[in-house]
Amino acid sequence: THFGYETVSEAEKAKRVYKVFENVAQKYDVMNDAMSLGIHRLWKDKLLHAMHPQPGARLLDVAGGTGDIAFRFLDYIRFQQDRQKRRATRSMQTPSWQDISINYSTEDDNEPRESSAVVCDINKEMLKVGKQKAESMGVSSGLSWVVGDAEELPFDDDQFDIYTIAFGIRNVTHIDQALQEALRVLKPGGRFMCLEFSKVTNPVLARLYDAYSFQMIPVLGEVIAGDWKSYQYLVESIRKFPDQEEFKHMIEDTGFYCVHYHNFTGGVVALHSGFKL
Ligand code: SAM
Repeated sequence: THFGYETVSEAEKAKRVYKVFENVAQKYDVMNDAMSLGIHRLWKDKLLHAMHPQPGARLLDVAGGTGDIAFRFLDYIRFQQDRQKRRATRSMQTPSWQDISINYSTEDDNEPRESSAVVCDINKEMLKVGKQKAESMGVSSGLSWVVGDAEELPFDDDQFDIYTIAFGIRNVTHIDQALQEALRVLKPGGRFMCLEFSKVTNPVLARLYDAYSFQMIPVLGEVIAGDWKSYQYLVESIRKFPDQEEFKHMIEDTGFYCVHYHNFTGGVVALHSGFKL
């Protein structure tokens, strides 16, 4: 297999990927902002909008690192809940047929299930930074952190409504194995969503992007995190990852249905989605 453009054994790749994220963990969030000029936040927000999770949903965020997707998920759900409460209050004051139908369809005799997000990552240093972030933000309810390999998830079958993996799958040694595991742990009807760097479709943008990433990212890595090599690996791993169509076929071959993708920023990043039936 490969580590960037170097050919290495599978065990060696896994070891080196671990080292990369162990080295960058403390500076990971700062570097993400610096390298993407903050745009990674917009890509992650777009993932949440496409997901549109409802109260009670159970999320598994694999390769979740410092928890960006899980925090956004819990925020989004809280917003949905507040909106539902506001609607319910309004409908008690001046009920209209729309309010009544909304309450009818969302209310249940049982207590609604609490939403939850599990952040799973192979690297405990990344999770440690995530947990510190959660503490400083005062977020704890519905959030858990689990050390685990995307290729061999430590969860039972049919557990989650949504599986996400953001900027993680290109680091996994056997992508097909990680996809199989995603399918296994999702409930029937559950959704797989993957945010990953992809192939830039516009040739002018592609040239600018190449120049920026090959020349600037390792320099930023050296200046901010004192680690040129790790960031050179990140750039090279992006180049090696399958393009949008190829990855879509891999997801379909795993057994997911209704697989489609959206390009963000001209294909710098693609969001792939599919369902387990
Ligand atoms: N999802 C986070 C985000 O978007 O900010 C973190 C992405 S970071 C670029 C990639 C993460 O993948 C790292 O935290 C790394 O430890 C994790 N990772 C790499 N190989 C993995 C594997 N086999 N299983 C689980 N996580 C893995």
